[in-house]
Amino acid sequence: MNTPPFTELGLPAPLLQAIADLGYEQPSAIQALAIPVAMEGHDLVGLSQTGSGKTAAFVLPALAKIEINKRKPQVLILCPTRELAIQVCEEVHRLGAKLPKLHAVPVYGGAPIGRQFRALEDGAHLIVGTPGRLLDHLRRGSFNPAEIKMTILDEADRMLDMGFREEMEEMLALLPATRQTMFFSATMNRGVETLIKRFGKNPQMLQIERKALTVESVEQRYYEVRERSKVEVLCRLLDLEDPRLAIVFCNTKKAVDECTEALLARGYPADRLHGDVTQQMRERVLTRFREGKVEVLIATDVAARGIDIEEIDIVFNYDVPQDPEDYVHRIGRTGRAGRSGRAVTFVFGRDLYRLQNIERTIRQKITRHRVPSQEEVEDRRADALYDAVRDRLEAGSFQGHESQVERLLDQGHTATDIAGALFTLLREATGRENQSIAEDGNGPGNGPGNAHNFDRGDTRPHRPDNTQDRSSSYAGEMAKLFINLGKTHGINAKDLVGMFYREGQVPDGTLGHIKLFPRHTIVEVPEECVEKTMRALGKSKLRGKPFRINRDKQL
Ligand code: AMP
Repeated sequence: MNTPPFTELGLPAPLLQAIADLGYEQPSAIQALAIPVAMEGHDLVGLSQTGSGKTAAFVLPALAKIEINKRKPQVLILCPTRELAIQVCEEVHRLGAKLPKLHAVPVYGGAPIGRQFRALEDGAHLIVGTPGRLLDHLRRGSFNPAEIKMTILDEADRMLDMGFREEMEEMLALLPATRQTMFFSATMNRGVETLIKRFGKNPQMLQIERKALTVESVEQRYYEVRERSKVEVLCRLLDLEDPRLAIVFCNTKKAVDECTEALLARGYPADRLHGDVTQQMRERVLTRFREGKVEVLIATDVAARGIDIEEIDIVFNYDVPQDPEDYVHRIGRTGRAGRSGRAVTFVFGRDLYRLQNIERTIRQKITRHRVPSQEEVEDRRADALYDAVRDRLEAGSFQGHESQVERLLDQGHTATDIAGALFTLLREATGRENQSIAEDGNGPGNGPGNAHNFDRGDTRPHRPDNTQDRSSSYAGEMAKLFINLGKTHGINAKDLVGMFYREGQVPDGTLGHIKLFPRHTIVEVPEECVEKTMRALGKSKLRGKPFRINRDKQL
């Protein structure tokens, strides 16, 4: 796979600068395919999933086309949900950071229309919104579509599934016929095809080829780790697993630099590889890694390409990779030559969807593991010291210190005390300071048997019963919803969380407790979402089964 660098995609300098500042090292597959086509002005259909970098694939060309001095709407992005509209708008701001006068406005249902009206009146270049609300604004004349030159349909299949067909069609028909249209969809079906036929102008179909991907000889697990705890967890795992050679993969150069600095500061023999490392330096780092002088190599995907070292014991995905294919490439670096390798992925919040996507692609389960405690690491270190001392004694290679030992004995110290003091000194010399992290507080819930006990930022202890406490960041009133499926139907909290956030339109981080019973489940959602969520989930299925959802009567 030969991916061109960002600089060869036809993007203007301020966008390249923003990309560099974000530390994106190379375009993802869909970006490499879509950006040049979009920059040439063609309509396109991009078949790609969340996590593939598809947002930047359309946001970058959109930003490139905007005439910043013209304060009129020029780009319209349609998204299925309010959360997605907000996320896309955030990406617009990140990638448009070097376009100082850029004005992008998100508009979605459920928020006061008056405020959106004023924001639009203020002269938005780019509008991101849900179909219903966008159409509402168009009909009310909140903005003039005459200068729209690009329209993007993000997750077109999902918008159709959610029943937005009429709104989408009415709106597209109101936009200038000269506009460029980009359709992004995870799947292709009749509905999407019809939409494309009707509103696309000879669009180019872009699809990332999926090879059959398997990685069988690698033991794969994941840990739920917040961004700020990643270094500590990485260190604990390095101490516990004690690999001879390990690679830590990060998604950006910035993350590689930060991780390397943190490991070096804690005394690990670590070094880095990324696109800014010179060829000469790269050779040096690789030689030292091969020789074992560097034990932990921190790298981006691009920089690690072509490294041919057989004895890598463990691969860490410090960030969940962009693409399932990258995951396979990464972990394929361990478990070579008949060895059994280990792959560890750090996951948090929305990353879980990307992980599920990876699991689907590789058709393998990645198991959740509990973050090891400081005590376990300490115990492991103590064991290692014990083994080292015993080996020395057995090998008889401890001579040359008789006079010092004699002096201490003469001073009245016992052999046990002297040995104890030496152990303490050794531990101080080889140990490192532990850091308490939020993940330590997860108590009984943070256990391997609790595989679906994941959360989105929870630091509170999980309850020992069947309640999944997920630290709703939401301070408003909560309501309980009843679902007539439970544990005996194979339902787990992970499925429910995914469904409520994705299909149920519950804003990120606001889901409350999930209580699984044998034949039913109670889920807490913000009171203000109840109607919308029940409607949105009306036709959904859990584990392939339709279900009934209503307010819990026992409130
Ligand atoms: P998406 O599939 O658009 O939801 O993007 C997934 C994540 O990848 C987002 O957090 C982006 O900021 C990030 N991302 C997008 N493109 C790149 C890239 N070329 N390199 C590194 N990260 C990226």
